Amino acid sequence: MAELNRSRSDKLFAEAQTLMPGGVSSPVRSFNAVGSSPFFVASASGAYITDVDGNSYIDLVQSWGAMLFGHAHPEIVVAVTEASQHGTSFGTPSELEVELARLIVSMVPNVERVRFVSSGTEAAMTAVRLARAATGRAKILKFAGCYHGHVDSLLADAGSGVATLGIPGTPGVTEATTADTMVVPFNDLAATRTAVEAAGGDVAAILVEPVAANMGLVLPAEDFLQGLRALAIESGAVLVFDEVITGFRLGPGGAQERFEVDADLVLMGKVVGGGLPVGVIGGRADIMDRLAPVGPVYQAGTLSGNPVAMAAGIAALSMIRSRPALYEELQTTARSLVRGLVDAADQAERVPVAAGAVGGLAGFFFAEDEVTNYDEAKATDEKIYAAFFRGMLERGVYLPPSRFEALFLSTAHTEEHVDRVATAAFETLTTL
Ligand code: PMP
Repeated sequence: MAELNRSRSDKLFAEAQTLMPGGVSSPVRSFNAVGSSPFFVASASGAYITDVDGNSYIDLVQSWGAMLFGHAHPEIVVAVTEASQHGTSFGTPSELEVELARLIVSMVPNVERVRFVSSGTEAAMTAVRLARAATGRAKILKFAGCYHGHVDSLLADAGSGVATLGIPGTPGVTEATTADTMVVPFNDLAATRTAVEAAGGDVAAILVEPVAANMGLVLPAEDFLQGLRALAIESGAVLVFDEVITGFRLGPGGAQERFEVDADLVLMGKVVGGGLPVGVIGGRADIMDRLAPVGPVYQAGTLSGNPVAMAAGIAALSMIRSRPALYEELQTTARSLVRGLVDAADQAERVPVAAGAVGGLAGFFFAEDEVTNYDEAKATDEKIYAAFFRGMLERGVYLPPSRFEALFLSTAHTEEHVDRVATAAFETLTTL
């Protein structure tokens, strides 16, 4: 098949590398993990993203899940345009914050108060501080393969059987910073209990992605989340759900609602900002009111509650509220997408594919059996994923440029797109 013309992207990438580390503003965008180089985007609309060389791709990344309604949805474009005409940042309260806060509190269970920030990373950073302040304890228990932004203390990943010992996940993070981070395998309640007991009453927070979507897509085992809830109550730890991906993507009330488990603090991002930079930390009033200026826990931001971003978030959440069947539809598309991928793999008879979907979230691994944790995810073949990614891109389908990411559906994706993806998958798989 003819190679895509990517000459303008390649030229931009060459210059970008002389100006920005790796030529990108966030590492996965470099396409390093899939042995390729990035396309540079000219525009995006609905389910499609178009590069500067004029190639259009069905976009299954959707700005890493921020675009629940597809790119450049007219209602969001209008909201952003109108808001920006009144000024793009005030550094002082606006009615838009109250409106978005009201929507979030009315939709998300157990959220009585919210604080707006500009990224998921900031939300996670604040949750750690708040949980420690609320409990007077030091340790944060997280799960291997779960991502909570690039917070120093949360980049720790146990690996190699050092299950409860935080080790720095990157140079530049000191051991002292991660000394109070404990890491246990996702979906392993027994290991979680052992770790909590070993900490001797010093666990401030159990922090989890209720559906793990940063090691590929890994669903919570039956009773895993309920077990964490019970363990948090028993041990006096704060249960923090990182719903930066699952929030407003599994349903209006996110994973809490979907799995009927109550969290004490909830982190949000992506969809809640309608494609603009918004992060949210929300939760019970008694915990949230420890934040300054009510309480002593300091947290602030020049662009927090930014009016243009608030307007985009209001537009997105209002659309969610006005479309009761939205998540059924998204899940139908997500399920038919994964069925298409599995069927394509069966027909091609080259490599097995295990796949899953929940709400507007999908994922697949080149694996025989369902993947349940990070070790299993890491055991899948990196080279096959890379070759598959490149083959799909050549055929006009943009998958996440790493096997450790999920696929994101939007309301703009239709069965026709799914069919095209399945056909491209079959053709690509036969070449592997
Ligand atoms: N938590 C989760 C679950 C995420 O997926 C991400 C980002 N992908 C973050 C936190 C960090 O969000 P941000 O990139 O906005 O800092």
